[in-house]
Amino acid sequence: MPDKHAIDTGLRYVHNDMCYPAIVVIGQLISALKDGLCDPDHTSIMLFQTCGACRATNYLSVLRQALKHAGFPQVPVFAIHGLKEETDSFHMGRGMLVDAIKAAVYGDTLMNVRNRMMPYELTKGSTKALFDKWMERAKEELVRGSFFRFQKNIKAMVREFDHLPIDEQLWKPKVGIVGEILVKYHPVANNHIEKVLMDEGAEVVMPDFVDFFLYSGYDAIAKRKLLAGSYKEEVFGKMFIKILEFFRRPMKKALKESRHFTPPHSIYETAEMASRHVSLGNMAGEGWFLTGEMVKLIDSGVPNVVCLQPFGCLPNHITGKGVMHELRNTYKGANITAIDCDAGSSEVNQLNRLKLMLAVAKERGPKQEKQEHNDAVMNR
Ligand code: SF4
Repeated sequence: MPDKHAIDTGLRYVHNDMCYPAIVVIGQLISALKDGLCDPDHTSIMLFQTCGACRATNYLSVLRQALKHAGFPQVPVFAIHGLKEETDSFHMGRGMLVDAIKAAVYGDTLMNVRNRMMPYELTKGSTKALFDKWMERAKEELVRGSFFRFQKNIKAMVREFDHLPIDEQLWKPKVGIVGEILVKYHPVANNHIEKVLMDEGAEVVMPDFVDFFLYSGYDAIAKRKLLAGSYKEEVFGKMFIKILEFFRRPMKKALKESRHFTPPHSIYETAEMASRHVSLGNMAGEGWFLTGEMVKLIDSGVPNVVCLQPFGCLPNHITGKGVMHELRNTYKGANITAIDCDAGSSEVNQLNRLKLMLAVAKERGPKQEKQEHNDAVMNR
């Protein structure tokens, strides 16, 4: 995990007009080269690229320029998912894709079960110890394990977390985290928001990482319905969703059968929820998916939501900050806070906003929260 030094490196080589995730990602990569973690003469960089209105489309060219200025012009950069005109696009083979999906599902499951149990554990450190054990096991299994082993591991992992001794009577406000994908999951970029919230006495609910890729798959369906998308793209989109859901099935089943956890929604449900408030034609950045995630959380009894947005990210301001007023009006009790993430963001300011949101949540208490949730469900 990089430190602030990597972000300073990013600021040195990327114009600060670029969005914050570009500064973090590029800073991190250049720092790795500068610190001697990889030999520049024997290193290539693979980078995800979105293809559309959002600036992630330009990350590749920005990284190439930055590498040149940092003294590493020999390092080639490949797009994992590239534009058609990219001649050096890197294509993932089947085996690598399967491993990547399995890694993401292991990660999502671990994140989900850890966040649910940790705030209520009776023996301090027991959740972390179990988390570390399964993290190591998942890494080993990724290299060697079959699909059968993967299924077995997910089931055993969920069962072990489900049986951790916790204080069943304790109530803590649930806080969902949504936002731009990098700042949402990158602890340095979001100033360790998960830890801060837990330390302040909240239960963190983090939607799954895989959902973002399901959203990308669903975009092909929405494009065909609303824009000029082709039938072929739609079929590919549906197939992609099916493949991801196939790998998520063991996790969903295990979570459903547990006492403490809830399985994630399908992307079709999230799209339906988002479409109550925004057009599914909003596909730049997190687009409609960001709105859908907020509704999904509120709908499943998590009225407190933190929306993380990189400073200056236009797409996510539209479907994030732009819909908050509408959501607060529609869902009584929705307690949503927007937090801007930037290299110059004041941590104190961020902390104060989080504390304010938690103060509202705690004042409301479990009874009122439940009542408001029931009312909201009845009114729909
Ligand atoms: S979603 Fe926003 S922050 Fe992310 S790459 Fe696009 S413009 Fe930048």
